[in-house]
Parts: sequence; structure tokens; C-alpha cells
Amino acid sequence: KPVIGVFALQGNVREHLAMLTAVGADARPVRRESELAQVDAMVLPGGESTTMYKLARSFELFEPLQKRIADGMPAFGTCAGMIMLANEITGGIDGQETLGGLDVTVRRNAFGRQVDSFEADLEFPDLGPTFATPYHAVFIRAPWVERVGADVQVLSRVGTGLGAGWAGLGPEAGRSRIVAVRHDRLLATSFHPEMTGDVRLHGYFAELVRGL
Ligand code: GLN
Repeated sequence: KPVIGVFALQGNVREHLAMLTAVGADARPVRRESELAQVDAMVLPGGESTTMYKLARSFELFEPLQKRIADGMPAFGTCAGMIMLANEITGGIDGQETLGGLDVTVRRNAFGRQVDSFEADLEFPDLGPTFATPYHAVFIRAPWVERVGADVQVLSRVGTGLGAGWAGLGPEAGRSRIVAVRHDRLLATSFHPEMTGDVRLHGYFAELVRGL
């Protein structure tokens, strides 16, 4: 069984643990360096990336995590977790650092205030028959991916709407945006995959870890 940790200082930790267990992983909360040392891979949940950054620093997990990722540990970042994995962010606060590794630029709170939260059915055209039916995704003050490096695979996009609810996007409304990517062993989504009963993305990540 792959041993997959969940960064457990913030976010929907229990939900991620339950979904990882459902796809056959040995899922464990990680709050300290000694626990990080025992996992094969990590999930970085959503929450608030500035707070996650500060918590990771004060629990002395930031550098150990950064090092494990640089050494090739698989990681799955969701929402704030995607921001944590990004090499570059826009809309961050002063001094906010990321773990890095994922060669993308991510815009924080990109969808605007009017659309703080929304749901959408997403296609994952490259992920085979398991993803033949749409994936229902929940976005909460979500980031989007603005730039992808040459080695980054775009897994899914969301079309933003033109209705009143999207007015805050101004001229950006109606464009489609990248919301799921894979870069080698790093997987990231703008949305919260732990908030529905759909375990397909956790399953995809567990397969990635098993395949190493
Ligand atoms: N807006 C949050 C941030 O910038 C992310 C929101 C989330 O994880 N649901 O960190």
C-alpha cells in the first residue's frame, strides 16, 4: 500500500484521509518532520495559502517538505495546496513563499469576489475511461493557472461564464481557465476534490504513487 500523508495543520484533513483510504492508500496525517519522513507522498489540502505557509514554517515543516518535493516525492496540491506547489504566484502577500516544484504561475483568488464559490462539471480528456463522465468540482476562492511550463500537462479547464455572477471578472469573463495540471510527480487542482464523493482524482494520485 502506498503511504500517503495529508498536511494536517489546516484544511479538510479528515476528508482527504477518508478518500485516500477509499482508494487503497495507507493515509496518515502529517504535522511534524518525523511523520513526513514516513510517507511516500503528500496531499496538500485547501485552506489559505498564506496561513499554510506560516504554519508550515512554525511547525518546521516548510524546508523538509520543500526538500522532499525537490527530491521527487509525489505531491497532490488542492486549491491553497496548488498555490503552495507553484513555482510562481501572483496576488500573494509580502513574504509569502511557496514550496515550488510545479512549473506554473498561479493567480490567487482569481475568479473574483462575485464568484467566491462555484461548482462546475469538468472534463479530463487525457485521463482515460475512468474519467469518461464529467468530474463535479467545487471551487472556493480558487486560484487558476496562468502559465504552464513546457513539461506541464494541462488536465482540465473550466469555462467562466458571462452572466451577472461573473461580472467581477470584467473582460476576463467567458474565457476558459486551466484548473488541473500534472508536472511529473506533482498533481494540482484549483478546486477541492475532497468535497464530493468522487474519489477518481485521489485514485489517480494513488496510482501515480504506486507506479514509482
Ligand atoms: N484563496 C485561498 C488562498 O489563496 C485558497 C482557497 C482554498 O484553498 N479554498 O490560499
